[in-house]
Amino acid sequence: MSILRSLILAAADSPRMQRFVQRYGFRLGAARFVAGESLDAAVPVLRRLNEQGLLTNTTLLGEGVRDEAETRAVVDAYRGVLDRIHTESLRTNVALKLTHLGLSIDEELALRNLAELVEHASRRENFVRIDMEESRHVDATLRIYRRLREGGHENVGAVLQAYLFRAEADLAALLPLTPNLRLVKGAYLEPAEIAYPRKRDVDAAYVRLLETSLAAGGFTAVATHDETLIEHTIAFARQRGISPERFQFQMLYGIASGLQLDLVRRGFDVLVATPYGPEWYRYLMRRLAERPANLLFLLRNLVRG
Ligand SMILES: Cc1cc2nc3c(=O)[nH]c(=O)nc-3n(C[C@H](O)[C@H](O)[C@H](O)COP(=O)(O)OP(=O)(O)OC[C@H]3O[C@@H](n4cnc5c(N)ncnc54)[C@H](O)[C@@H]3O)c2cc1C
Repeated sequence: MSILRSLILAAADSPRMQRFVQRYGFRLGAARFVAGESLDAAVPVLRRLNEQGLLTNTTLLGEGVRDEAETRAVVDAYRGVLDRIHTESLRTNVALKLTHLGLSIDEELALRNLAELVEHASRRENFVRIDMEESRHVDATLRIYRRLREGGHENVGAVLQAYLFRAEADLAALLPLTPNLRLVKGAYLEPAEIAYPRKRDVDAAYVRLLETSLAAGGFTAVATHDETLIEHTIAFARQRGISPERFQFQMLYGIASGLQLDLVRRGFDVLVATPYGPEWYRYLMRRLAERPANLLFLLRNLVRG
């Protein structure tokens, strides 16, 4: 399984594979995980999820950008997303990737772009989550998060990946900021020198992060479909008297929908990460790598045509 996972994640970087998968399109598989190729297509999906009692976030899919002008277009698109969420009264916030805002070009550019969006979100009483990407971006991403928080911005959150050895030290360094943190296992291909290769070690690291984060003063977004971790969160919070307002569960659109609704029925907040946009290829490949059985689902659709 781990070889298959590595192969799929390596294919995520292959332009030839990308051309092939994009040609066979959205409807063959990506539509299960992506709300649509445009914001207009995503809005009814977000509304339907909200009507089911689920909170949502949305992301304009896309990661690399070539120059500053391209990042400007991304910032403008996200301003439009925040405006649309506001006018449609959706219970939706925004999650974005700093490489989409220019992090690989210039850290200051990404910071300026993000600050503009966080300010715009604040005027719209909304919130921006900075997704965490490959390990080479972690230092800069956390620096930018810290600068925004130290600059007085409260409506911004970060992500820590349990597979990275460094995550516990990063959490300890962030706690004095009373952060809003999303905890994930980690979705990228990382070397064994810096990340746990074995799933059980990642799961154990996740529990340590979870307990430390919940016991501290901030807000914890428990982003996993792992039912053992979810039940552990609930039991730990009960045992420590941690109010359900101090955490929420987060899952991905198209995955474990029954579990999402069960948790809502049990009175917990559940946010469904619901991305959209034409650049869905790399996102789809990460979802396939997490569960290679998803490849069968894609192939079945291909055969059915
Ligand atoms: C809201 C949210 C935001 C995220 N943001 C980031 C981020 O910023 N950076 C980052 O590196 N990663 C992010 N991730 C991805 C995360 O790192 C994991 O790769 C992903 O959540 C799968 O791990 P798991 O915690 O669900 O546990 P696992 O142990 O992998 O899975 C638990 C259960 O869920 C099922 N499952 C898991 N993934 C899938 C799937 N793709 N299709 C079908 N079933 C599946 C499994 O089969 C298993 O039954 C995010 C995940 C979520 C839910």
